Amino acid sequence: FSSCRVIEPVGKTEFVLGTVCTISVYDNTKKASQAIDEVFAALKELEKKLSANDESSMISRINKYAYSRDVSADEETAFILKKAMEYAEKSGGAFDPAIGAIVKLWNIGTEDARVPSENEIEKLLLSADYQNINIRETSIRLLNPDTRIDLGAIAKGYASDIARDILKKNGITRAIIDLGGNIYAMGKRPTGEEWRIGIQDPRGDKGIYIGIVHVSDMAVVTSGDYERFFTVNGKRYHHIIDPTSGYPAENGLLSVSVISKSGIDADALSTTLFVLGADKGKDFIKKYAKDAEAVFITTDRRIITTDGLKDILDITTTNYQLGK
Ligand code: FAD
Ligand code: MG
Ligand code: MG
Repeated sequence: FSSCRVIEPVGKTEFVLGTVCTISVYDNTKKASQAIDEVFAALKELEKKLSANDESSMISRINKYAYSRDVSADEETAFILKKAMEYAEKSGGAFDPAIGAIVKLWNIGTEDARVPSENEIEKLLLSADYQNINIRETSIRLLNPDTRIDLGAIAKGYASDIARDILKKNGITRAIIDLGGNIYAMGKRPTGEEWRIGIQDPRGDKGIYIGIVHVSDMAVVTSGDYERFFTVNGKRYHHIIDPTSGYPAENGLLSVSVISKSGIDADALSTTLFVLGADKGKDFIKKYAKDAEAVFITTDRRIITTDGLKDILDITTTNYQLGK
């Protein structure tokens, strides 16, 4: 019989993009650790460009000056923003990169998180509309003085595509890229089987899954109410905002996971679907994202999936019902 050898991955974890990022390479290549360093250097460059919390980032510069004059962005920032605008248009503003001022108001995920007054929300709600963002080529103009761009719902997905490209360029074919739960599963496991990615139970301890997806060369990205939230008087306030109300989206969902070839699309899509809810979300996929698959987990404890997912998702939980 054949000898069985377990390949230990070459891996590295760092805190970047506001989250814990781990790159694990399963190829037996000497270039692995050098390639991983190259990935982290690129992620740090991206963070410098895209962080809404860093005064000197490109995004902050746009947010500060683009109401008074055209600000010219670099190609990469413009590309991500255009993608975000596409999702905003297609979703009728459910996904909205102009949500920044409202996100800052809530400060969810920081020690300063609080429930704003209705008055505060009302004052900024008109600013949180993608139609206040004007982008031509790489030139950006904001049409409302309070509008602030926030790419937090799409940047990690883009970053995972960049990470994949860097690994590929270095001859690596098997890797798991995990950017704070934004996962890209590259190639296959050393055994030749597909990668198995767990879908977190949104009400279970970390690492308790509702099921496992079997994928190869796919992004698996989740948006949920359980990673960044705070609770006041028993009510949970999470970080995905419904731009029509300025409050955390409440459409009967605990989480949505999206499986797609493209990391940037998976990230934008998971946030879009979370705001739209399961019914409108399924329609959105049929209309705009035929290649993507999704699993919705609802507040009434159902698991709803797109048709194509049934072949690649093994449901292991008994805490939820398979629903329509
Ligand atoms: P997703 O569902 O993918 O996105 C949710 C995030 O998108 C929200 O946090 C908000 O920022 C934004 N958003 C909310 N509602 C909408 C909507 N309707 N449409 C579009 N976007 C919406 N976190 C920190 O705590 N400190 C940091 O310094 C920090 N720096 C970061 C720098 C960069 C470059 C990036 C990409 C992220 C950073 N983060 C930081 C994390 C960030 O604030 C978000 O929490 C994170 O990106 C959310 O990702 P997600 O996958 O959990 O959720
Ligand atoms: Mg997202
Ligand atoms: Mg995400």
